[in-house]
Amino acid sequence: MKLKVHTQILIAIVMGVVVGVLLGEKTVHIKIVGDMFIRLLKAIIIPLIMASMVAGIVSLGDVRKLGRIGLKTFLYYAATTTLAVTVGLVLVNVMRPGVGVEIAEKTLDLSDREVPSVVSIIRDIIPANLFAAMAQDKVLSVIFFSLLLGVAISTVGEKGRPLATLFEAFNAVMMKITDWIMRLAPYGVFALMAHTIGTMGLAVIRPLLTYMATVTMGLAIHACVTLPILLTVFGKYSPVKFAKDVFSAVATAFSTASSAATLPITMDCLQENTGVSNKVTSFVLPLGATVNMDGTALYEAVAAMFIAQAYGIDLGIGHQLLIVLTATLASVGAAAIPGAGLVTMVIVLRAVNLPLEGIGMILAVDRILDMLRTAVNVWGDACGAVVVANLEGEQLNK
Ligand code: ASP
Repeated sequence: MKLKVHTQILIAIVMGVVVGVLLGEKTVHIKIVGDMFIRLLKAIIIPLIMASMVAGIVSLGDVRKLGRIGLKTFLYYAATTTLAVTVGLVLVNVMRPGVGVEIAEKTLDLSDREVPSVVSIIRDIIPANLFAAMAQDKVLSVIFFSLLLGVAISTVGEKGRPLATLFEAFNAVMMKITDWIMRLAPYGVFALMAHTIGTMGLAVIRPLLTYMATVTMGLAIHACVTLPILLTVFGKYSPVKFAKDVFSAVATAFSTASSAATLPITMDCLQENTGVSNKVTSFVLPLGATVNMDGTALYEAVAAMFIAQAYGIDLGIGHQLLIVLTATLASVGAAAIPGAGLVTMVIVLRAVNLPLEGIGMILAVDRILDMLRTAVNVWGDACGAVVVANLEGEQLNK
């Protein structure tokens, strides 16, 4: 009997945890399998985004449709991220996980990690050099250039036809490669899980349990209540069926802690299982992986409040509104790679004058929360694709 990929991945996660607990540090020998899996995914991200975006735009026929899809996507992203942050803030005010926590001595050296400013995030969308942007995995810049290319090819008409055909072919080939990589996903996921559990140890978790519970509960409410409601109302799609459809993507997000690395799998799941067109997935998903991070925004808000509570700093409603705004921006600015949210949290802490050293306290459990928030980030993007597709009147396999 051949198991479905998502069943295989589920088994891989469970086996990874068991092996991680049993072998501990020895799992470092398995790590190479996980590293190779992530490298494969990373290898195709840039060409996949470019091929699928250009092919998607060209297939729109009328480029004005792009504006419509763009507006709906933007509204969905803005609404869901704000809802996520709000849930996080309410919970952290109710559960007060930071009150009474002893402030750790541990300090964090952020000097080697660049914290982007809001201005630079916006400016750098335009690549000064396309090839440099591709080489440095600057996803937003590649999206920008692909949009430009797609719109230009459509506008040129007959003369642009050979290029349109070229990108359509390129896209089909990239999707085929993604398909092959997906078959390797169970092995990659197993190795990544085993290594994470094996090296982290469970002892670091204890002092931060309430904080972790607050973040986890917030993420669960967003993923299991807020987004399913939106999916049902605006996407007219069953959340249970959809959870099965995109399970492989969410599980890969969980084990890799990278929305970008998961992107090829997210695109594959949506196109194969839900019937959302390439027009929509090629626009909503790459953009979503980079800028729409509901889980990260929620986490940043909770973490900032946790730090404030631990230092005995009382933040009023004005400051908390500032947290909503900056946590949203910080999640937009966070790269879709492991640990990025921890770095952009500096933006939130600075805005409300909290001590940056506070980040040191939550460092120990960041990886596990990173896995959870990345899974929610990808789930949010995927739901967005269905909502936009439904609002565009597409026929989906419900
Ligand atoms: N790892 C997250 C992602 O790729 C970003 C973060 O650190 O919050 O979506």
